[in-house]
Amino acid sequence: MVATAAQRLLAAGFTWFDALSSLPATQQPVKGFVTRDGALVAFAVPHASASHFRVVGAHTDSPGLHLKPNPEGVAANFGTLEVEIYGSPLLNSWLDRDLNIAGYVVHRDGTQRLFTSPSPVARLAQLAIHLDRGVNENGVVLDKHAHLRPVWHTGAADLSVRELAAKWAGVAERDVVAVHAQLVDHEPARVIGVDQSMVAGGRLDNQLSCWAAIEAVCSTSRTTASDAGIGVVALFDHEEVGSESTTGAAGPLLEHMLERIAHSIGRSRNDYLAMLPGSSCLSCDNAHAVHPNYPERHDPKHAPFINRGVALKSNSNQRYATSAASAVAFLSACAAAKVNHQLFVSRNSMPCGSTIGPITATRLGIDTVDVGVPQLSMHSAREVCGVRDALDLPRIVGEFLRG
Ligand code: ZN
Repeated sequence: MVATAAQRLLAAGFTWFDALSSLPATQQPVKGFVTRDGALVAFAVPHASASHFRVVGAHTDSPGLHLKPNPEGVAANFGTLEVEIYGSPLLNSWLDRDLNIAGYVVHRDGTQRLFTSPSPVARLAQLAIHLDRGVNENGVVLDKHAHLRPVWHTGAADLSVRELAAKWAGVAERDVVAVHAQLVDHEPARVIGVDQSMVAGGRLDNQLSCWAAIEAVCSTSRTTASDAGIGVVALFDHEEVGSESTTGAAGPLLEHMLERIAHSIGRSRNDYLAMLPGSSCLSCDNAHAVHPNYPERHDPKHAPFINRGVALKSNSNQRYATSAASAVAFLSACAAAKVNHQLFVSRNSMPCGSTIGPITATRLGIDTVDVGVPQLSMHSAREVCGVRDALDLPRIVGEFLRG
C-alpha cells in the first residue's frame, strides 16, 4: 500500500523526504511525503501563512495470516506452513483459496525489497463434509493452531520461504537478513453485480480509504486559496491490532510530522500548538452496511446501505471521535461535493468497533470525525462495497482538504 501510494504521490509532483532528515525550511508552497515501514504521511502546504491543518487519516493494514519466522513444516506428505493470526480475520474466509505469499525482505544494507510469488503457491484446505458431517449445522470450527496450516508442496522438495522470498524480491539470499511474509488471496479485486455496482476484493478495509485519501490530496494540492489549511494524509499501520507501535496511530508519527511541517515554514512550537485547536481530522475507515440476510443486526434508523452514501459514524462512548460539532466538517464536504451521506450508530446490544479517530483526537487534541464507506463481510479475505460510495469518498476528502 505504502509503495503504491508513494508512486502515485511522486507522479503527482510530491517530493519524498527522508524521515531521518529535517524538512527544508521554505516560505514557498510545498508538497511532500515521508514513509516509515507500513506508514506514510503526505502533506501539501499551500502557503507559508497557513493557520491550520486538515488531516485525513486511514490505515494500511488488514487482518490476515502472517508466516512465522521459521514456517516450513511437514505433514501427511505435504509441505506445510506455520502462520500467525494478524488482527481478527474471519478465519473461514481463508479456506479453499489459491494463495500467494507476499511481503518484503530486509537487505543487509538496511533497505526493504517487496516481493510477491508470481503465482498461487499455498492453500488452506477445508475438511471434506464426509469427514465433518455436522459442519453445515454447527458452522466451521477451526483450532487456531492445528487447523491453520496451509499446504504449499507435496513433500518432494526441501523448500525454504526465505530462499524463495529472496528470489522473488530479486536479491541474493546471502544478502537477506530477515523476511516478512504473509498470505494473500490470488484473486484481484473486481467490479461485480449484474449492474456492475459493487467492488469485491481483499483488504477493502482499509486500503479503499487509503486510496481515496491519496487520490484526493494529489488532485486538491493545486489549491492555493488564501485561507486554505495544510492538507495532510496520514496512513497508519497496526490499526487492526490496537495502533500501539512506532507506525500506528497511537505512536508519535503524526504529531512529530505536523510539528516538523510547522517548523519548516518558520513556526515556533508555541505557534504550532496554537494551530491545533483550529485544525480538524477526517478519520476514514469502512463501516458496516446492512446485510440483506441479517438486517436485525443494525439499528434501523442508523443503518447505512451499500451505494447510498458514505457513513458518518458516531458513538457517544467515544469508540468513534465524531461529535455534533466535529461532524460539520464532513457534512460541509458532502454538501460541497454534492453527494449523499448516511448515519451509522450501532445497536445498544451490539458492541461497537473502533478505529484511529479517537486515538488521533486523543494524541493531538484535534476535532475529529469518523466516516467510512459501507461494506459487507468486514475482515473476510474478500470483502464487498458499493462502486458509487467508493467513488464518492475521494470527492468528499478533496472538499475536506480544501477547507
Ligand atoms: Zn478498518
